[in-house]
Amino acid sequence: MNLDDLRGLDRFPAYVYDLPGLQAHAESIRGALGRTELFYAAKANPDPEILRAIAPHVDGIEVSSGGELTHVRETLPGVRLAFGGPGKTDEELTLAAGIDRVHVESPRELDRLHGPADVLLRANLPLQLPGAALTMSGPFGMDEEALNTCAARIADNPHITLRGVHAHLASGLDAPTMLDLAHRIAEWAVPWLESHGVDDPELNLGGGMAVDYTSPETRFDWHAYGAGLNGIPARLRIEPGRSMTAYHGWYVTDVLDVKTTRGETYAILRGGTHHLRTPVTKGHDQPFAVLTADGPRSPATLVGQLCTPKDVFARAVLVPPLRPGDVIAFGMAGAYAWNISHHDFLMHPKPAFHYLR
Ligand SMILES: *Cc1c(COP(=O)(O)O)cnc(C)c1O
Repeated sequence: MNLDDLRGLDRFPAYVYDLPGLQAHAESIRGALGRTELFYAAKANPDPEILRAIAPHVDGIEVSSGGELTHVRETLPGVRLAFGGPGKTDEELTLAAGIDRVHVESPRELDRLHGPADVLLRANLPLQLPGAALTMSGPFGMDEEALNTCAARIADNPHITLRGVHAHLASGLDAPTMLDLAHRIAEWAVPWLESHGVDDPELNLGGGMAVDYTSPETRFDWHAYGAGLNGIPARLRIEPGRSMTAYHGWYVTDVLDVKTTRGETYAILRGGTHHLRTPVTKGHDQPFAVLTADGPRSPATLVGQLCTPKDVFARAVLVPPLRPGDVIAFGMAGAYAWNISHHDFLMHPKPAFHYLR
């Protein structure tokens, strides 16, 4: 798509999703991965239209709660599912029957899983991760002692089959760093699995492929990653979310007011970060294009309608002269955007949703 596709909108704010662009992107990722399986992490954006667009280009969907599991099963009947997430309730664990892989997070969770189930044990490995945006240590997964406990209990349980290890250790990593990490995970996990009698060891390497909000054109190097994974002696699966859908959503809205207060210029936009929380959670300026105005650029802070100083899309960014009615499209709003936002705060109208086909 190009920005002209966003000009015909008549109600703001609106989310616009580029489904053909998303499909082409997913297809190219799938093509780059070779034998590595690709599951999409629904948590990044579980919009049914997004799930249906992506489904033909992935091997399955990763879900992180009973709610996601039920939603994805209803949206994509028969799809292969991997079920992860800390703190699974008994009720959620009963939904796991017939799931391709269950990712077990603790010995106690394993004891509450009745099976039949094929499981990956989620490992929390002490690997150094320079440059990560977020490291998933803390409550996620298990150390070697708990992993050994689980493997021993599975050996005594005819209803549960140990298939491999799951290791989603960080997010925001580029392809060379992710590859290095994958090799270090495999060096530990493959012999460990073999020592517990797993014949055809599997590794799920998680998601977290880098998305650079300061450079919307930059993409994770899927070809280098896919090629580099080929050397690993295990069945491999990855489950990216953000790096698949982030690029294919826009939040488009119009200017309500422009004012200069104590030397700072603010453009107040319809809507706010209760619709697009991404810049607040990530602490970045959301990339944007001004669709209607042109002229010499000067700094302004783009804010929404919420009664909080945190309602900022982009701070002191260069914009052409703005007037009420001008239209601004925020890009990279296809992942961790609408679905992580606090929609009901202040009770403003919800955005419209459009799907380019
Ligand atoms: C969130 C998450 C993902 C997806 O992460 P992205 O950064 O969106 O690629 C994959 N696996 C697990 C276990 C997760 O928690």
